[in-house]
Amino acid sequence: MTKSVYSMQFSAGEEIFRIGDRGHNAFFIETGRVEISIARNGEKVVVAELDAGEIFGEMSMIDDAPRSATVTALEETVVIVIERSRMIQPLSSIDPMMNLLLRVVLTRFRNSQNQMMGLRAKSGEDAKSLDEIRRLAFDRINAEKTLREALEAGEFEMHYQPIVDLDEGHVAGFEALIRWRKKDGGFVSPVEFIPLAEETGLIVELGRWILETGLCDQIELAGVCRALAPDRKAPFMSINVSGVQLSDMDETRVLTDMVESSNAVPADIKLEITESLMVENADQAAAALAKLRESGVSIAIDDFGTGYSSLSYLHQFPLDTLKIDRAFVINMDTSENARRIVLSIIQLALALDLNIVAEGIEEKRQMDALRDLGCQYGQGYYMSKPQPLTDVIAFMKTMPGWK
Ligand code: C2E
Ligand code: CA
Ligand code: CA
Repeated sequence: MTKSVYSMQFSAGEEIFRIGDRGHNAFFIETGRVEISIARNGEKVVVAELDAGEIFGEMSMIDDAPRSATVTALEETVVIVIERSRMIQPLSSIDPMMNLLLRVVLTRFRNSQNQMMGLRAKSGEDAKSLDEIRRLAFDRINAEKTLREALEAGEFEMHYQPIVDLDEGHVAGFEALIRWRKKDGGFVSPVEFIPLAEETGLIVELGRWILETGLCDQIELAGVCRALAPDRKAPFMSINVSGVQLSDMDETRVLTDMVESSNAVPADIKLEITESLMVENADQAAAALAKLRESGVSIAIDDFGTGYSSLSYLHQFPLDTLKIDRAFVINMDTSENARRIVLSIIQLALALDLNIVAEGIEEKRQMDALRDLGCQYGQGYYMSKPQPLTDVIAFMKTMPGWK
């Protein structure tokens, strides 16, 4: 494997690179001092001297254009070389708007530098790649604007999917799932817009609305259920919370306050969090979950077994429920391996005293098999698709345990 970060040593007077050179590494000065110079009318003009801790060569690293200055060591100098390969991944994953800003600033700087040196203004970046970056940023900003307008226009609604007690057959709770109903009546799947909302930060505002609506509708559903069967425990409401919302303690406090100041019984509220949150930033996740738990809500791990399968976090966090991902349930009939995985997840959950919900049950035989393996709760199209609140209330009145 080639090293993408390493040291190099230069003696006094030695050139590190020369104007016009092709090169795309940046350099941190570890010790020593360098001089940056350009040529004007055939004369060398020193434009800067840099000391330890400063960086140079960064522009070509970003836009891959030839060097626009010469850098010479003024004394014995050690530099840390950062190869462009080290930056390709971070550069390609930055927000398109940030990328555009970076490139535009750089292009304008290079143009004015060229003019200063009496050269024809030309972009360091090739025009095609800048166009592409501009288009991506434009698409992103447009999508963000559309999403924000949809939120303001009230185009989002919550649907609720029953979670059924597999032994008794009654509805034990619901999962709140967001829907975007466009003006033309068509629905956009959350799979399309939640990631965008996360990348743009809009999930914070949207997430507050989701929690508020979920809490409010749980209270209404609990009221209906109390009237139908006064002795039965009210159905819980499981609400999805994005890792982005919990990556900030201030926002976590806002969400906790929302639960505490609502009229919902916190024990009837469950927040669904995906595994990746715990794995990517375990300390922050632990702090956020502990804060949420102060309000009395319980926590479910969503899509369990799909991403990281790191079991080490399970006992570190205050969890209440594991949700088995649909991918395992679908394959249970045909794959002995999938069946074994489901069985192990169920056994693991039982050993850790966690509730277990299987997702994506589409066939009676899947439901029966899960029940036989000891799975307590299930949800899926076989029982009911997610529906608007009014339809769910009508549906409850027909369900065992409630009618
Ligand atoms: P998820 O949290 O894993 O939600 C379960 C998804 O499986 C839902 O898709 C649900 O409609 C679907 N589903 C349930 N039963 C079946 C079944 O029997 N067969 C099949 N094929 N699918 C079934 P949906 O509503 O499209 O949501 C997709 C994802 O979008 C969710 O996956 C969740 O990650 C995200 N999402 C949805 N609503 C919210 C929300 O309010 N907040 C956040 N942060 N994310 C949400
Ligand atoms: Ca979920
Ligand atoms: Ca899930």
